[in-house]
Amino acid sequence: MISADARRAGFNGVALGRTQVYGAVADAVCIQSPRHRPPSAWCDCGFYCFHSLDDARDLACDPQYQHCVLLEIAASGRYVRYELGLRYARQTVRSVRLGRCGCGRAATALADGGPGVVGWRRLHPVCGLCAGPRPVLTPEAFGVLVGQVPVRTDEAVDDPAAAVFSPLAGIGTDVDDASLVPLLSAEVALLQARLDQLQSRLEQLTHRSE
Ligand SMILES: [Zn+2]
Ligand SMILES: [Zn+2]
Repeated sequence: MISADARRAGFNGVALGRTQVYGAVADAVCIQSPRHRPPSAWCDCGFYCFHSLDDARDLACDPQYQHCVLLEIAASGRYVRYELGLRYARQTVRSVRLGRCGCGRAATALADGGPGVVGWRRLHPVCGLCAGPRPVLTPEAFGVLVGQVPVRTDEAVDDPAAAVFSPLAGIGTDVDDASLVPLLSAEVALLQARLDQLQSRLEQLTHRSE
């Protein structure tokens, strides 16, 4: 998340914590009852973490969490165990990992996406192609705004041992012309939009210098 004045960055919970935006160091708050301190055994409040990175990556495939980033954290304070990890009171974000853009390519930046909450805009990880002419925030800039936290691409995105996906155009003979038409049309529309944008920018600039 980025604040309305673009001077601060933070994180938004994925489940119960959806209404909260928190910083790199944060204490869990319970939205159900102010009378106990998270994590209460009688409630499901508190920060949650997985012990295994693979479990976190698995969850990120769920459509609900598709645009999430992975946070590597240090948990502290009171905690309780649950099946896959811990539920705990206080966390410090050690690093942020960007996964894939919605198109499947590695995300390389953050752009506006989805509904924000009062005072905060929502950012989604995107690749350069899908960002197109939209303004983006670099991972480094986000890391500075959130309090000097390293932000990088998750290594699972370009794991050399994993199956390699290539653009369809590179496969050549295996692709029939009929299936190439919508793909090429989409590429042309994208280029056209970018060209229109550059054209109007050029016009503005030449107009100004006249
Ligand atoms: Zn609670
Ligand atoms: Zn993309």
